[in-house]
Amino acid sequence: MTKTGLFTKPSKFVFLIFALRNFYNEIVYSPLASPLSPLLQGGKTGREGIFSEGRKKMPNENGFHMTPEEFRLYGREVVDWIADYYQRLESLPVMSQVQPGQIRASLPSEPPLRGEAFAAILRDVDEIILPGITHWQSPNFFAFFPANTSGPSILGELLSAGLGVQGMLWATSPACTELETHILDWLADMIGMPAKFKSDRTGGGVIQDSASSASLCALLAARERATNFMSNQRGCDGRLVAYASTQTHSSIEKAIKIAGMGQQNLRLIEVDERFALRPGALAKQIEQDRRSGLIPCFVCATLGTTSSNAIDPLPEIGQICRREGLWLHVDAAMIGTAAICPEYRYIHTGIEFADSYCFNPHKWMFTNFDCDCFYVGDRAVLINTLSVLPEYLRNQATESGAVIDYRDWQISLGRRFRSLKLWFVIRHYGVEGLRYHIRRHVELAQKFAQWVQDDQRFELAMLPPFNLVCFRHVRGEAINQQLLEQVNRSGQLYLTHTKLNDKYTLRFCVGQTRTEERHVHRAWQLIQETAEELERQRTQPPSQ
Ligand code: PLP
Repeated sequence: MTKTGLFTKPSKFVFLIFALRNFYNEIVYSPLASPLSPLLQGGKTGREGIFSEGRKKMPNENGFHMTPEEFRLYGREVVDWIADYYQRLESLPVMSQVQPGQIRASLPSEPPLRGEAFAAILRDVDEIILPGITHWQSPNFFAFFPANTSGPSILGELLSAGLGVQGMLWATSPACTELETHILDWLADMIGMPAKFKSDRTGGGVIQDSASSASLCALLAARERATNFMSNQRGCDGRLVAYASTQTHSSIEKAIKIAGMGQQNLRLIEVDERFALRPGALAKQIEQDRRSGLIPCFVCATLGTTSSNAIDPLPEIGQICRREGLWLHVDAAMIGTAAICPEYRYIHTGIEFADSYCFNPHKWMFTNFDCDCFYVGDRAVLINTLSVLPEYLRNQATESGAVIDYRDWQISLGRRFRSLKLWFVIRHYGVEGLRYHIRRHVELAQKFAQWVQDDQRFELAMLPPFNLVCFRHVRGEAINQQLLEQVNRSGQLYLTHTKLNDKYTLRFCVGQTRTEERHVHRAWQLIQETAEELERQRTQPPSQ
């Protein structure tokens, strides 16, 4: 069969393809030169058309992927962007000032059909995203608990993304598992954990995304230990009971719901004047529950409660748990990091009674979210609770019994290479460097507390044990609410509140990586000036 027409001549065919491609690139793809561009660019932002501005060239031999050279170039731009961001952070309003829906209204309604130039993406980060950011890394961020980060952490995270490892099994990246085991053993020593929590004994540590997940894993293991692993088989029968104080983080309540134990089976035990769980009340409640035919199985003690940094008495709670055969989980999400300093390690007195423990380097250890370190004293219970082994995950290393497969230590199967950032942080700062900054934060918070005490218009809700100061204006809830709203609206700092003994209380937590004395001092000045202004408004007669 003879071929006829256009396609019998390869040179003509090639020419046609090139001509079409050139037309596409030079005319249609060029927003400024193209007479078609006004038609092709739709929407109020000019980004909604099929052919958006700042678009990429046609695919090259890499397809649509970024070439290594492009990656190098844009990667440097992003690192520069982050470095510049940290340099100008103080000039940005700490709390985002946007209205609900504002960010979405600036985004095109449809995804781009054609890939866009990197410069256009980065420009939108500045113009669209940044106004909607509450600057958690601002030195003037004193809200909630911090989620601080640092240069080495960000770079470790970048490397983790670059390697793109999914470390569900030892076999899927041995370094991901072994570095994690090693760093968690380092950390166990750094915060003075008993030997049973280390991997060369019965226990070991694992990185979870959050303290909430760690507590859920602890609760599930407790549930299974108490029922000889029968709850996993048959489900819960409504008789298992868990205990925590009224000040315990809400993640425990959520865990009870997820674990199928029933919210009504969570007992919230009363606290003392320092907001710490009363061991006597705990013992009484356990006894009462046993008499009612229920099965007490789990206690969560908190070191550093969310509202006030209160510290539950571990030795007394631990003895009750040991006597009664209950699983003791210790949630030290915020202040576990303090134990890196020998003088604060007293918080761990009684930790030998614990079955599990967690703390969050992503709060106060200069390691970006997410990173919770979760330890168990007996890993076999956790693994038996969470392990399921489908055929497609079977491998020689697992079967040899010589390796850790962290998928059995957490809820999800997949996991990121999080220990890289922890490794970078610990190696960059060294234990001494970490201690220096933790001490500095505590010192600054104590200074702030002293300033509060010296001003008669304010009172401390309690003496701050570490870096969280709970205080209030003495004139009641309304003025405290207004004060909070006004200082936050100023953009100069960010505080949050809680209720202690039913009283509206302001929380001031010093834990941001770059917070220095001048920031804390300026924050206190602003709080005082705002209080003065509010008092003046109160005493002035309303204008006619
Ligand atoms: N436990 C305590 C004491 C907390 O303060 C918090 C959060 O602030 C959590 C648990 C929950 O932390 P995560 O966000 O890691 O789940």
